[in-house]
Amino acid sequence: MDIYDHPTFRMACQQFDLVADFLQIPEAERARLKFPKRSMTVALPIKRDDGSTEVFSGYRVQHHLTLGPTKGGLRYHREVTLGEVAALAMWMSWKCALTGLPYGGAKGGIACDPHKLSAGELERLTRRYTQEMIPFIGPQVDIMAPDVGTNEQVMAWMMDSYSMHMGHTVPSIVTGKPVGLGGSVGRREATGRGVGYLINRTMDVLGRDTNTATAVVQGYGNVGSVAAFSLAKYGVRIVAVSDVNGGIYNPKGLDLWKLEKYNAERRTVVGFPEADPVTNDQLLVTPCDILVPAALERQITKANAGQIQCRILAEAANGPTTPEADAILEQRGDIFVIPDILCNAGGVIVSYFEWVQDLQSFFWTESEVVDKLFRILEGAFTQTLNLSRKQKISMRLAALSLGVRRVQEAKRTRGLFP
Ligand code: NAD
Repeated sequence: MDIYDHPTFRMACQQFDLVADFLQIPEAERARLKFPKRSMTVALPIKRDDGSTEVFSGYRVQHHLTLGPTKGGLRYHREVTLGEVAALAMWMSWKCALTGLPYGGAKGGIACDPHKLSAGELERLTRRYTQEMIPFIGPQVDIMAPDVGTNEQVMAWMMDSYSMHMGHTVPSIVTGKPVGLGGSVGRREATGRGVGYLINRTMDVLGRDTNTATAVVQGYGNVGSVAAFSLAKYGVRIVAVSDVNGGIYNPKGLDLWKLEKYNAERRTVVGFPEADPVTNDQLLVTPCDILVPAALERQITKANAGQIQCRILAEAANGPTTPEADAILEQRGDIFVIPDILCNAGGVIVSYFEWVQDLQSFFWTESEVVDKLFRILEGAFTQTLNLSRKQKISMRLAALSLGVRRVQEAKRTRGLFP
């Protein structure tokens, strides 16, 4: 399907084809599993603060609706395209199936630079996007959440726009909302916390001590910063981090509390006094025990996969490693990969908890949320590790196989309508 053509969509398809071969999925079932069920492209005119009108492009892709409503984030980034969103929606499907959530995958986005829009412009853009999406979303149809460039405030505007249209408050239309509006405690931290938990589990499996380990984090946003704090709690020293402007390095370890304050004031980690500057390219090949890409897709490629110097690659971002880089890492055999659909699943798991709490209007404590989160992650990690060892396949192929197989079986059992 040419409308989705994009390097990230081709990458998701390449991964799917490998899994389909491994699982020996009949040809007739492959396209039905691979291509999105629905996709929407919308033009979003808004008034800028200077009085001019600008039209932005917005997208939403719902990958499959076989197991329940679709679920997935909303991304505000200059380079968002329909194809990128389709790839992210496909990965969400396999992630939800791997962790046993009653959802298909979805993803949305608006091609814009949120840092160049005022709060008022962002609000108008978000409300206009929600309005355009109303015929295609709903608590039993498609539920959005934050992703790159969006946050709790954006979710609050979406929830308000949808609720005004319905004539009553509908908290379950989005997750990742402020707690005061029906959000879940522990949702903002969930993805990074899950990354920390799975890295700690992997260190255990490899017989390594977290107290002597070092980590490098690419992308110091919501996921990356919480993952860094979570690793620090396990005793890991964070030696380098970066954001879109560049990176910083201190072999003795960065003081995360001081960095938090600096980052909050300057909105970048660059220039932090107690560290040396590094480029993002240098950062990825910095020697460390744990490398955490937590920014965007396609960061580890055939150009740098041979030079990466870590023991664990924990994919907090979606799709950070290309299939060509994957082949190099597999050949090297010295790096344990925690694949994205497992590594960052904490976010959608706690989004699921938020949706359940909203539907029941019955809210849980943070320890209930964290306990249930870790239990689901533990189950998915163990199943993936067992399959990987039993079949002598990579952790990525094992995780994707478990996810794809579940969706395939559900589609088979439901049959083809009409
Ligand atoms: P965010 O917008 O809060 O943070 C992204 C960070 O990456 C920012 O610090 C940005 O400056 C940095 N960045 C962007 N381009 C970069 C580059 N080229 N080099 C280095 N840094 C760069 O977004 P987020 O919510 O933390 O999401 C990060 C990743 O995690 C994405 O891949 C997202 O899809 C994935 N993810 C997020 C969630 C979630 O709950 N937010 C859940 C699962 C997966």
